[in-house]
Amino acid sequence: MSLDGTYDPDNIFAKILRGEMPAARVFEDDHVLAFMDVFPQARGHTLVIPKRSTARNLLDEAPEVVGPLMLGVQRVARAVRAALNPDGLVITQFNGAPAGQTVFHLHIHIIPRWDGLALGRHGAGGMADIDELKALAAQIAAKIA
Ligand code: AMP
Repeated sequence: MSLDGTYDPDNIFAKILRGEMPAARVFEDDHVLAFMDVFPQARGHTLVIPKRSTARNLLDEAPEVVGPLMLGVQRVARAVRAALNPDGLVITQFNGAPAGQTVFHLHIHIIPRWDGLALGRHGAGGMADIDELKALAAQIAAKIA
């Protein structure tokens, strides 16, 4: 899907939001939901999505949603840092399939990085063990301030 298109209410993140698909949930408030990426590019790879949104990407999003979304991203990123002690954090977001986007509900990636550890390829990694993801989610959730 390019930058133009229609929001599909049956996309996988919409299903997670409605509780129709499982996820290793980290954090939730009125505005955002954070959960572990099941094909992580690094240990602790977390996604943050706006809850009340039908935006496929950042360009589609209502301005009033962007502020609370980014505050949620900062909050979760701080918790990821506190829980996992990475040397760095990549915070990224893809707009349109040609840019690498594969799920068309706006989402922000938080990817911890460690010195000397290569970043996994986006969309090319294996599926993580769900119990491991749940344990990581609990570790990060415990550090939400
Ligand atoms: P993007 O390619 O930027 O659209 O990112 C979508 C991300 O969602 C990828 O990193 C996938 O690994 C991840 N993903 C796909 N399906 C699921 C799922 N059911 N639960 C959690 N993460 C998912």
